[in-house]
Amino acid sequence: MAKKQFKAESKRLLDIMINSIYTHKEIFLRELISNASDALDKRHYRLLTDKKKKYSKKDLLIRIIPDKDKRTLTISDTGLGMNKQELEENLGTIAKSGSLAFKLENNIKDKDNIIGQFGVGFYSSFMVSSKVIVISKKEGEEKAYQWESNGIDGYTIKEVDKKEIGTDIILTVKDDTDEEKYSEYLEEYSLQSLVKKYSNFIKHPIIMKVTKSRPKKDNKDEYETYEEEETINSMIPIWRRKKKDLKEEDYENFYAEQKYGFDKPLKVIHTSVEGNINYDALLFIPNELPFDFYTKDFEKGLALYSSNVLITEKCSELVPEYFGFVKGLVDSPDVSLNISREMLQHDRQLQFIGKKIKDKIKKELLEMLKEEREKYETFFKHFGRVIKYGVYSDWGTNKDFLKDLLMFYSSSEKTLITLDEYLSKMKDDQKYIYYATGENLDIIDKLPQTEFAKEKDYEILYLIEEIDEFALKILVSYQDKEFKSVSSGDIEETKDEKENVKYKEIFEFMQKELNDKITKVRESTKLRTHPACITSEGGISIEMEKVLKTMPNANGVKTEKILEINTNHELFKVIQGSYQDDKEKLKTITNILYNQSLLIEGLPVEDPVSYANDIYRLIK
Ligand code: ADP
Repeated sequence: MAKKQFKAESKRLLDIMINSIYTHKEIFLRELISNASDALDKRHYRLLTDKKKKYSKKDLLIRIIPDKDKRTLTISDTGLGMNKQELEENLGTIAKSGSLAFKLENNIKDKDNIIGQFGVGFYSSFMVSSKVIVISKKEGEEKAYQWESNGIDGYTIKEVDKKEIGTDIILTVKDDTDEEKYSEYLEEYSLQSLVKKYSNFIKHPIIMKVTKSRPKKDNKDEYETYEEEETINSMIPIWRRKKKDLKEEDYENFYAEQKYGFDKPLKVIHTSVEGNINYDALLFIPNELPFDFYTKDFEKGLALYSSNVLITEKCSELVPEYFGFVKGLVDSPDVSLNISREMLQHDRQLQFIGKKIKDKIKKELLEMLKEEREKYETFFKHFGRVIKYGVYSDWGTNKDFLKDLLMFYSSSEKTLITLDEYLSKMKDDQKYIYYATGENLDIIDKLPQTEFAKEKDYEILYLIEEIDEFALKILVSYQDKEFKSVSSGDIEETKDEKENVKYKEIFEFMQKELNDKITKVRESTKLRTHPACITSEGGISIEMEKVLKTMPNANGVKTEKILEINTNHELFKVIQGSYQDDKEKLKTITNILYNQSLLIEGLPVEDPVSYANDIYRLIK
């Protein structure tokens, strides 16, 4: 019989499939089972709508039959089947998947990704088979046909005998090579786990003969093996079950089964949405920080199903970066299973669902904050950083969406508080939301710059993570209250210029001694018990300078530092005296005050040796 050639674009795809180095070749089984399931759905619908036909739902099933001797794997269904013309059209061409062919032609490099993300239906069977035979008999037709191909030389179609309606796909599994093992696709156990992994929730039974053992009848101490047909998929997915019928344990089992983590989930979000686009979602917030969460290796995303069929295990479009810690899945009948159907529309649907999911997660988090404070704090200690990055990144695009999820440590309680809670503690005369930065709470608590605020009983937010101040800077304000660092120069009304004039000469002398290390020496309004401190002016704070300096390309990042002097401090009398009688001594004092202030800020002293010498000189 003459061989027919595949259409050009089909040939291209077949080449890719046959020579694929894609590591997840196993998805071929998912693709074939999902085709079988579709065919069963179609037949089911016909039987349901045609009253004359008698049928039993039990007859609608998928069978998997491995045969190690013949090296064949048969996937058989009692679905609608295909006639001769359909075999030719459906399996001889991929006309329907024009956009895929286009993508493949133009972006060959990405082909593994395409296979991985979507699978490419029937053709994926050529990744593991040297020959594929399809025998099919269509519902309502007399004749059955056999389609056969090795993928390379085209295909043949001939008439054959087949009793039952439906389709048998018979794969001749490739021989093992040094690099690739194909024999596992003939193993009962591997096939069972592949079905569990990819097709567990297909609503039709997937039946396979499995080997079991039982005590022998005549001797109960000995066991014999026997074979029995078994349904190997669970058929009803957990997310389709009613919430009220599910126990916490069921969710926990699923969480473990899906390998979302070794912990128990902190929060389960199970939701069903009906509207323009329908979907069920089952989402989890982990209780523990995944070990690779803050590394480049971490991949965010939710599994995407279409009517119980897994499309991809990680669909990153479904969760934004700042909710990347959320695990789980979305199942929507409105998302097409195969890339071959309109790609663009597919994307729009994903975006739509993604937006809804994002809103839902936020709503649940706010509720947790309100109702389960302790849980929320656990959550925030683990994942708060990624939320704060979310506020800061993309030029603050998402800052308004995220700001009420934020928490920082408070100066009075040393516990986490929200920005709303800060506002509720603000004093009547208080203009700003104050914050202070440092390595840990103890260090910040001792900062001289916090003295004035404490005296007035103002709350201060203690920022201990690098990202914190960047997030607040991009927020600018919260409910019209501006954020203000206690280390910034312009915190309170700066003292009258006239008063400053009093010490103008002294300050200018000190400034000259420190040269370009600082931009100004001035009288402090915020110091109480400390003699001096360093503050900054302009957009970049001292803490931010520290962070930015650790980054590549950060040359030239510099804050404008100001040395503030407490003129009420005893030490200032020494300064005034030295200015009159001993200018050299004032130089030493100036340098020491500057370096002490650096140390208190957690900044390195630029020249430790001369700093030490200054102190020795003074002691003498
Ligand atoms: P897709 O499923 O995306 O359409 P495939 O290449 O997997 O792409 O299959 C092409 C077509 O072949 C299907 O749309 C379906 O009409 C038909 N087909 C495949 N497998 C079966 C089957 N087991 N029973 C009936 N029809 C099938």
